[in-house]
Amino acid sequence: MAPRNGYTGEGGSSVISTDLSHGSVESGESLQSTSSPHRCHHVMRPARKVAFVYAATGRRFLGCPLSGPDRCSLFMWIDEAWGPVLSRSLIQLWDQAFLDSGRAARLQTKKKEMEQAYLELWTERSNMEIENQQVVNKLKTTILDTEIKMSRRLEFHTKMCVAFISSAVTLASVLAYVLSAH
Ligand SMILES: [Zn+2]
Repeated sequence: MAPRNGYTGEGGSSVISTDLSHGSVESGESLQSTSSPHRCHHVMRPARKVAFVYAATGRRFLGCPLSGPDRCSLFMWIDEAWGPVLSRSLIQLWDQAFLDSGRAARLQTKKKEMEQAYLELWTERSNMEIENQQVVNKLKTTILDTEIKMSRRLEFHTKMCVAFISSAVTLASVLAYVLSAH
């Protein structure tokens, strides 16, 4: 018996699986109305449904033909309870399914943590790049400053040389004039 794969019972009953977290005994979905003499609280013919929860998985029952919040509380088992071996297996399968969904949730959390860590690393790296750029900029400014100072010093030195040479020339010409005057 494999209720999940569309178990078809007498009268064309079929199973629609439901969310694990909503495992209630009436989680089986509505199928078709029956020729049952019973009536639900809406005075409607009950629908044949299949339970999809723990040890009751695959057991047919009569329930309200409506679904969702409109559904009334009519509930009558059609099938007897499964034997102990099948019941235990079903419970183990459900536990395994819950375990797997828990594991998936933990993996999801782990993935989020890793994404966060990556983001932090990336931010740190960007900050380091910014700091590095600032250091480089400072260095460039310092080099530029030094170059300007050096060129100014060089200019001053050149001016001093020119001034010295021109005064030397002046002195020489004055000397030559004085010497020639005698
Ligand atoms: Zn009803």
